[in-house]
Amino acid sequence: MKRRLVLLGAPGSGKGTQAELITRQFGIPVTSPGAILRREKDLGTPLGLETAEMLQRGDLVPDKIIVKLIEDWLRLHGGYGFVFDGFPRTLPQAESLASILKSLHTSLDAAIWLEVSEETIRARISGRLQCRTCGFTTSVHSAKFADRPICPYCEGRLERRSDDDMSVLQTRLREYNTKTQPLADYYGRCRSCGELTETVTATQCSRIFRV
Ligand code: ADP
Repeated sequence: MKRRLVLLGAPGSGKGTQAELITRQFGIPVTSPGAILRREKDLGTPLGLETAEMLQRGDLVPDKIIVKLIEDWLRLHGGYGFVFDGFPRTLPQAESLASILKSLHTSLDAAIWLEVSEETIRARISGRLQCRTCGFTTSVHSAKFADRPICPYCEGRLERRSDDDMSVLQTRLREYNTKTQPLADYYGRCRSCGELTETVTATQCSRIFRV
């Protein structure tokens, strides 16, 4: 079974939702640099404070910081596989991941690309609600949560993420188009060299959960 996966896609493409379904169904541990950094900010740690403004502007955080987070996580939790939600997002991050995995005598099994139109992304982001406590994500359009914005899992408060603002989204999409899209070529090459068994898009992969 493939247990070393990366989920790639634009903001709002459903990476977090898919990652959660994969972890629930197959028990593969998941991590997301974005979620880690939001938690660090809430805790007021130096890392959280250093990166908070970058998240708020919609800029990507420097590769060095993100790679260190992932490297530390892998050493602690990566023994039984992983699903990375939102990593890698740049070519240097993808290359670092390959070399970290090599040093651990392993490699990536699949890169899954979630393809969603910009129109859908804008609609989703403008209505997205997230639990401040556990990260559960839903929509203001869901009748269940519209009147009572309380998380069904932990009773935390469901809120709009402060970077889910249309002008910040513009920057996040620009970062995605310029820095993350080139990874399609990179993983295409890895696949043809036999370094990666599969690259799939959500529409091609019949086993992926419906986005
Ligand atoms: P989304 O996929 O909706 O943009 P995330 O929670 O994955 O949400 O990311 C939120 C923010 O965290 C990004 O806009 C960026 O500032 C930062 N971030 C997350 N992952 C990375 C990464 N791999 N490299 C650099 N910055 C990242």
